[in-house]
Amino acid sequence: FGDVYYSSDNGLAESQHVFLQGNDLPRRWLSHTRAHFCIGELGFGTGLNFLMTLKAWRELPAPRPDLHYLAIEKHPLTHADLTRALQAWPSLARLAEPLLASYPGLLAGQHRVLLEQGRVRLDLWWEDASDALPDLAGRGSPCVDAWYLDGFAPSCNAGMWNDPVLAAVAALSMPQATLATFTVAGQVRRGLAAAGFELTKVPGYGLKRECLRGVLMGTGANRAQHSPWDIPATTAARPESVLIVGAGLAGCTAAAALARRGVAVTVLEQGSVANAGSGNDQGILYTRLSRKHSSLVDFALQGFWFAASFYRQLLDTGALTAGLDGDLCGNFQQTDKSDEMALLASGLSGLEQLARVVSANEANTLLGIEQHSAGYWFPRSGWLRPSAVCRALLRSDNIQLIENCGNVGLQAADGQWHARTHTGSLARAQCAILATGTDTAAMPMCDWLPLQRIRGQVTQLPNQRAFAGLRAALCHEGYIAPARSGVHTIGATFDLNVNEAAPRADDNRANLHALAAAIPSWGTALNSLNPETLQARVAFRCASPDYLPLVGPVPDRSAFIEDFGVLRTNAKHSLTQCGRYLPGLYISTGHGSRGLTSTPIAAELLASMICGEPPPLSRSLCRALSPARFIVRDLLRNRL
Ligand code: SAM
Repeated sequence: FGDVYYSSDNGLAESQHVFLQGNDLPRRWLSHTRAHFCIGELGFGTGLNFLMTLKAWRELPAPRPDLHYLAIEKHPLTHADLTRALQAWPSLARLAEPLLASYPGLLAGQHRVLLEQGRVRLDLWWEDASDALPDLAGRGSPCVDAWYLDGFAPSCNAGMWNDPVLAAVAALSMPQATLATFTVAGQVRRGLAAAGFELTKVPGYGLKRECLRGVLMGTGANRAQHSPWDIPATTAARPESVLIVGAGLAGCTAAAALARRGVAVTVLEQGSVANAGSGNDQGILYTRLSRKHSSLVDFALQGFWFAASFYRQLLDTGALTAGLDGDLCGNFQQTDKSDEMALLASGLSGLEQLARVVSANEANTLLGIEQHSAGYWFPRSGWLRPSAVCRALLRSDNIQLIENCGNVGLQAADGQWHARTHTGSLARAQCAILATGTDTAAMPMCDWLPLQRIRGQVTQLPNQRAFAGLRAALCHEGYIAPARSGVHTIGATFDLNVNEAAPRADDNRANLHALAAAIPSWGTALNSLNPETLQARVAFRCASPDYLPLVGPVPDRSAFIEDFGVLRTNAKHSLTQCGRYLPGLYISTGHGSRGLTSTPIAAELLASMICGEPPPLSRSLCRALSPARFIVRDLLRNRL
């Protein structure tokens, strides 16, 4: 753009003067009454403004609001460039470290970075501001308390300052929101004034004579929302307590996300923690690459990036024990699609932290074994013990766990959700989350959910000398990870609508065959094992027809059919009505065999909805995850 990122004389003091003081920070945090304070930044660049803000937040004595920093950036720096840029500021080096550890590089989409035990949430939206802001504003919930408008001078970059962008800034602003920017250009002042901001010119920093501050007067005009079935017609206040039914990965990640926000959580579990789909000894942190964007691919990659940092932090802080509870030792995915691999090799340039294409030889060095396939190497992936993750997440003063409840039912009464079993009432709260896998459809208000039950059997492979060299996770048609306590968990079979709960020798045989095909050098050792006597475990995955999980509020089905029935005959009908949802009831289910990857970001999404924070994902991804999508789809296909 032919402009500078910040003053090369003293970018720190410039950032402090223009943006922090420009928004009266940190002073405003002291009297802030909501649980979080949200800063919106246009132009994340090198993250200097963010780090200065983080520094100021850390220096403030508790209690202080959580910091939610929502930054939009069209041209993100690569990881290497960001590292280099931040070396200019030795005084920020310690703060920059965790940012660099989770920084997504050029991976497209929206990324959430949790810092300071989750009290600081950094959202990085790698998009043009003119796409990201209307996306956020179109949800009709203002969320930003202070703006840093830092998108290069309008003379170099008019697109960052046009009327639709500034109108979306206003629409996203909380009442009395403030803004600060380095420019006093007339076009910017006129645009901001027209959007509703009262502006003041103040002395600039260094050679710049003036900079601009503003306060939103009244409320920002709300933009028309196209087809807003995904937006609840009524919004509830942030609850003090939440019930979660189900203590698998979906329930435990959600419990931890809410507990981090100071919400009191009661987790009700029919049996014991992680006793169903999340009960295998080892699972792989899996994602998939594709050259094309789709909701499925974008969610798989964004969810993976978030999950990898999430587990890394649990391991680094000692909440999980490396080797016993998991190991982010890398993951190699075999592929025989050489055309796709060639195309992805260039597509992954700049994304080496996410994945790279490796030859069979290189894969063998990484894996420590001999196999014949080329494929993709994911350096941040690895394996985890889901039950250990669940237990680690439940360790919080804000979480009460009640196990062995038997069948839990939920009923709405007096503005609360009451959890009951046949023996009586267990607990109640304004808000509840169903994280009950396929059992979710057993609840009367969810009996229409198209959930599929997919049987999977894993086999326990004793760690023989032949298998001992494996030092990273390997995905083929199945998967294997380095041994945990002397045993590899290999798997898994995939049988739709098979209900047999007991392990089957044939399934062990199938798991061994698939592994022998993937690693022929192990053939003799695998052949010597007896499938009849190997230990195995069966679990039932809960999946959806479109392979995306169901995460979001539970729609009032009959109200949806009534309100949106017009879609049966006119799919293009422009809806103006928001969706009617069961107040305070949410779901996280249908994670299939990817719960390790998808549940951490799903939990952040639910927590953001419940606590009235900016969402971690684009609106189109939220719609793709919304449980209500199935009703809208059925109406569009005239099936309802
Ligand atoms: N705040 C940054 C920091 O602390 O390092 C410096 C920001 S720099 C002055 C401006 C940033 O705006 C650049 O990183 C640029 O890529 C980004 N940008 C320019 N046009 C944009 C657009 N239309 N949407 C989003 N970001 C844009």
